[in-house]
Amino acid sequence: MLGGKGANLAEMTNLGLPVPPGFTITTEACKVYLETGSEPAELRDEVGAHLAALEERMGKKLGQADGPLLVSVRSGAKFSMPGMMDTVLNIGLSDASVAGLAGQAGDERFAWDSYRRLIQMFGKTVLGIDGDLFEEAIEEAKEAKGVAVDVDLGAEDLRGLVERFKGIVREETGRSFPQDPREQMDLAVRAVFDSWNTERARLYRRQERIPGDLGTAVNICSMVFGNLGPDSGTGVAFTRDPASGQQGVYGDYLQNAQGEDVVAGIRNTVPLAELERLDRPSYQQLMQIMETLETHYKDLCDIEFTIERGKLWMLQTRVGKRTAGAAFRIATQLVDQGLIDEAEALQRVNGAQLAQLMFPRFDESAPSELLGRGIAASPGAAVGKAVFDSYTAVKWSRSGEKVILIRRETNPDDLNGMIAAEGILTSRGGKTSHAAVVARGMGKTCVCGAEELEVDTKKRRLTATSPDGKGRIVVEEGDTVSIDGSTGQVHLGEVPVVPSPVVEYFEGRMHAGAEDADDLVRAVHRIMAYADRVRRLRVRANADNAQDAARARRFGAQGIGLCRTEHMFLGERRELVERLILADTDAEREDALEALLPLQRADFVELFEAMDGLPVTVRLLDPPLHEFLPDITELSVRVALAESRRDANENDLRLLQAVHKLHEQNPMLGLRGVRLGLVIPGLFAMQVRAIAEAAAERRTASGDPRAEIMIPLVGTVQELEFVREEAGRVITEAEAASGQDLKLTIGTMIELPRAALTAAQIAEAAEFFSFGTNDLTQTVWGFSRDDVEASFFTAYLEKGIFGVSPFETIDRDGVGSLVRHAVEAGRATRPGIKLGVCGEHGGDPESVHFFHEVGLDYVSCSPFRIPVARLEAGRAAAESLGSDSR
Ligand code: ADP
Ligand code: MG
Ligand code: MG
Repeated sequence: MLGGKGANLAEMTNLGLPVPPGFTITTEACKVYLETGSEPAELRDEVGAHLAALEERMGKKLGQADGPLLVSVRSGAKFSMPGMMDTVLNIGLSDASVAGLAGQAGDERFAWDSYRRLIQMFGKTVLGIDGDLFEEAIEEAKEAKGVAVDVDLGAEDLRGLVERFKGIVREETGRSFPQDPREQMDLAVRAVFDSWNTERARLYRRQERIPGDLGTAVNICSMVFGNLGPDSGTGVAFTRDPASGQQGVYGDYLQNAQGEDVVAGIRNTVPLAELERLDRPSYQQLMQIMETLETHYKDLCDIEFTIERGKLWMLQTRVGKRTAGAAFRIATQLVDQGLIDEAEALQRVNGAQLAQLMFPRFDESAPSELLGRGIAASPGAAVGKAVFDSYTAVKWSRSGEKVILIRRETNPDDLNGMIAAEGILTSRGGKTSHAAVVARGMGKTCVCGAEELEVDTKKRRLTATSPDGKGRIVVEEGDTVSIDGSTGQVHLGEVPVVPSPVVEYFEGRMHAGAEDADDLVRAVHRIMAYADRVRRLRVRANADNAQDAARARRFGAQGIGLCRTEHMFLGERRELVERLILADTDAEREDALEALLPLQRADFVELFEAMDGLPVTVRLLDPPLHEFLPDITELSVRVALAESRRDANENDLRLLQAVHKLHEQNPMLGLRGVRLGLVIPGLFAMQVRAIAEAAAERRTASGDPRAEIMIPLVGTVQELEFVREEAGRVITEAEAASGQDLKLTIGTMIELPRAALTAAQIAEAAEFFSFGTNDLTQTVWGFSRDDVEASFFTAYLEKGIFGVSPFETIDRDGVGSLVRHAVEAGRATRPGIKLGVCGEHGGDPESVHFFHEVGLDYVSCSPFRIPVARLEAGRAAAESLGSDSR
């Protein structure tokens, strides 16, 4: 109800810290205002009573002529939000009291400067006047006086400026600047209420899923002045280094200045440590307060403070933002200090931070030339030659060059270039721009919105300002650049890349217990160990070969949740697949299958060996067959050319016919998955035989294979029953032949809405379900992922229709409710049914929490995401433990 700022101001007051007296109007008042269009009836009197108490305490009245009480009016919602109203300082000042303020402070210039600031801030944020008008007036005043900065304007100049500002207010609003202090305050309060519904604030809330009816609180805070001379000043500080987590003195201080000057960057700040020299008592008091705050909040805090003539005042504090590395370090440091326990430490970090720590990084110690900085849109470190169009990107990458695609902004036409590039750099657009969305979807490094870089695609060059701010650096097509998607930095030339120590640790090449272990690795190790102890969800890997499986195991995988067999049909084996597709007779087809069988079997033997003792879910062939045939256009051209030369190749002709026959308008919804198994005789049987024989071979070699056979794209139980029957026969044969009990189970993917809706029936024939949330998302939304992500997702994200792509984070309400239903229905039919997820969502932090909630047994994700899933599964479990005990 007090909003973040108000709650923390109250908390600091209760801790006995020096906070300028004031009071907070709660969000309740704002809610009434938003509902009814006017302030609640009691508000006026209540504010009056609290103001009177404040005046009593301060020994002066708001705006009183001889030495006025001045206040700031500050917005502050539960979640800090860009787009909310800016703070108005110096409320209460008027023609009548400006002289009194000067007398009280003994400083004429200060008083007129304060009045000038009030009219300017009030004019802009409360009255909605274009801020440039005030800025222009200041420029004119400086010119008239022949000075460069506004601190060189004297009392008389500022008095003139105040007159000019009052004129602007009259011209722009048709009325005078309000002289009644209480009216100033009430108008400012109302403006804060109104700012809850500005366009920007609403968009931000939609995207961040912040409820629109929370409302904002308003803080009325008596003014303290950091601009009263050299013994005054203002600053910001952190209780520890937000970059490394180290404890120490971190912050900036600006002598003789008010809060907004620090942000405006009019003068250079000095490091906070300097304050010790400038004002030792205040410095020592500040250090003590910082310790109090850390002990109280049990976390890193950031603070705003002001010193008025040697007296320290605390103006704000909150739990501070930090880098991913600092988050892990700080969490374990706090455990060591006895401030928090391990369960709490686990909540202080998250999977996104862990993922960030796992990307390779540019070597910070290597010399590099910084060209500029943009938005860190998709993490990673990419190096390549600059290209400025998609065509060149594709052409160069085909000839083996690594390229960085540089565009002003990207659009769907750039897709091929983005695929070909190592990374993408744009000078326009934010985190939801086309470049950012598509790059994230592809897992490709991207820096977007680097506005200080000028991209000229016609001249094929990028221009940056040199570090000294004077010269220009031109990057031509073919010059090497390095982009850092984790920091947004863009460098000229090749910056060397170093592997992440955290990955070295997961790979087992670095040990957390070693003498020289990095403190980050130690922190990650401790938190991971705790997450593994408390999590309920098991974590498996999506891996298709023994090499990936081995890595997944090192990363902590407890099995394979999805082995795609289509990769086993590519390369040299493609020809066998062609033969299978072209087969006219049963004999031809059986020949082709017969040739594929030993190859598949060998793949499975390796895989089961790598995952010995752990479950391996093998999915039978899923993609449409034309994916294994040559491209229709290329083949048509080849055939046409051959015909014109009158030497048509028989095989090519047959292939072309097959390609035409298999061509589909919507392959995603066509002949694929279980449908292939039902219409191509012997295909699934061959795959099942390969699995069964591989399992038998491993058992004979005293291994412990735990294969699970998974049927894709089932929509109705009849499909599954059909495949089961055939598979059952094959397995029985293999068992008879080997004399082994193979313990194979057969289950299905749930990736069509109909499958989810009829899960109760499907569970009769399935020993396990694995939710294929990619296809399920496509079919529930009617989205073809490849098409929509590249074309209109940007618009959807910008309009706030969803805050995050449903392919990144599971759509709880839609796709999620089908999952929930299928879980319940499946368990009702078959109580012990094993339930997992193998879509990409299995490695997405938020989605993992959802899968924990609905009670799945495991999530499966790409090997690299396994640590993230382990961590988030631990956090989800710790969270629900916490809420149980509360
Ligand atoms: P924000 O949410 O943008 O940080 P704040 O309400 O904290 O907005 O105020 C903006 C600036 O004004 C900050 O630098 C803050 O320290 C300063 N400020 C706010 N209230 C007062 C006050 N009563 N006295 C002096 N400075 C203040
Ligand atoms: Mg602030
Ligand atoms: Mg699928």
